[in-house]
Amino acid sequence: MIDLVEQIVRHQLEDTVKELGQPKFRAKQLREWIVQNRVDSFEEMTNLPKAFREKLAESCRIWTTTIAKHTTADDGTEKLLVQLHDGGRIECVLLRDGDRRTICISSQVGCAMGCVFCASGLDGVERNLTAGEIAEQMLRLQMLLPEEERLSHIVVMGMGEPLANIDRLLPALNLASSEDGLGISARRITISTVGLPPAIDKLSKLDTRYHLAVSLHAPNDELRTQIVPVNKTIGIQKILDAADHYFEVSGRRLTFEYVLLSELNDRPEHAQQLAKLLKGRPALLNVIPYNPVPGLPYETPTVQAQQRFREILESHGITVKFRHRKGDKINAACGQLRRLSKENLVPLEGSAPT
Ligand code: SAH
Repeated sequence: MIDLVEQIVRHQLEDTVKELGQPKFRAKQLREWIVQNRVDSFEEMTNLPKAFREKLAESCRIWTTTIAKHTTADDGTEKLLVQLHDGGRIECVLLRDGDRRTICISSQVGCAMGCVFCASGLDGVERNLTAGEIAEQMLRLQMLLPEEERLSHIVVMGMGEPLANIDRLLPALNLASSEDGLGISARRITISTVGLPPAIDKLSKLDTRYHLAVSLHAPNDELRTQIVPVNKTIGIQKILDAADHYFEVSGRRLTFEYVLLSELNDRPEHAQQLAKLLKGRPALLNVIPYNPVPGLPYETPTVQAQQRFREILESHGITVKFRHRKGDKINAACGQLRRLSKENLVPLEGSAPT
C-alpha cells in the first residue's frame, strides 16, 4: 500500500501518480482533495477518472491510522486517541476558543525527556512519528470542523519532544504553513520544546519562522535537573543562548513555559530567580498550574500561591500569562488518555464522553 499523506509531505505524490500511469496534474488534484477539501474516500474525488479512482483504491491509502477513541468536552474540546499501524497510540486535540481553532499534535510515541510531572514520558519513548503520521493528525482534526471553518493555530505540545524528531516534524509543518497546504501562518504554529540547543540552532537556520516555546519549569540548574532530568547534560544557559539567537534571527518573541508544582518550584524565591533570569528578554512567561496525573505525587499550587508567583514576576516587569487547561475532563492533557487506555481504564469503543 502507498501512503498518500506521507507522499504528500515528502513531495513524492507526482512520482506516484506517474507510476500509476497518470499525468502530473492529477497529483495536484489528489492533494487538493485530501488536504484542502477534506475528502477521504476516492469515490468522492469526482474530477478524477473512474479508472484512476479504482486504481487508487487498490494500491493507495489515505489513513495509516485508526481512531481508537474520540471524546468531546462541554467546552467544545475534542480529543482523538489515534492508533498507529503498529499498535502504538498517540493523542491529538482540537480546541475551540472564540474564532480560534487550535490543534495540539504529538511528535513521538511516548517521550524520552523524563519530565517528572508528565504522563507522556512515564514509559519512555517508543518511536518517532513519521512526517505522514504527524500530518495525518492535522488532517484528521481538520475533518472534525464544519466546512466553513478552518484551522487557525497549531501547537506541537502533545506527546513527545518535537525537536528530538525535527527531521520528520519540519516536512509536516511545511504542509501546515504552505499556501497549497493548510495555509496556517508560521507565527501561528508553536513548537514547544524541552530545549535542545542544536535543534533550536537548526530552526534558526530555516526560512520559516515558527513560534518557539521553551519549557523551562525551574529558574536554576539544580532544580531544573530534578524536574527535567535531560537538563543535566544541557543546562539552562545553553538553552537561553540558543533561544536568544532564535529571537535575534527571527524577531519572533519567545515563550517560556513553566509548570507550577506546589512547593517544588512555586515559592517566592523561585519567582525572584526566574524574574532575574528572564529580565530584559522580550519574552512571555506562560505559567501552567500542574494538571494532576494519577499516580504521581505532585500537587497543583493553591490559588494564593499562584497569585503570589504571578505578582512577584509582574513586579519585575515580566509578562506573565496563566494557562488553564481546556478539556481537563476528557484528559486532554499530555498523554493522559493514552495512559488510561494502556491500563485499560478507558473502554476504547462506544463509551460516552466523560
Ligand atoms: N516535549 C515538549 C512538548 C510536549 S509537553 C515540551 O517539553 O515542551 C507540552 C507542555 O505541557 C510542556 O510545557 C509540558 O511541560 C506541559 N505539561 C506536561 N505535563 C503536564 C502536566 N501534568 N500539567 C501541566 N503541564 C504539563
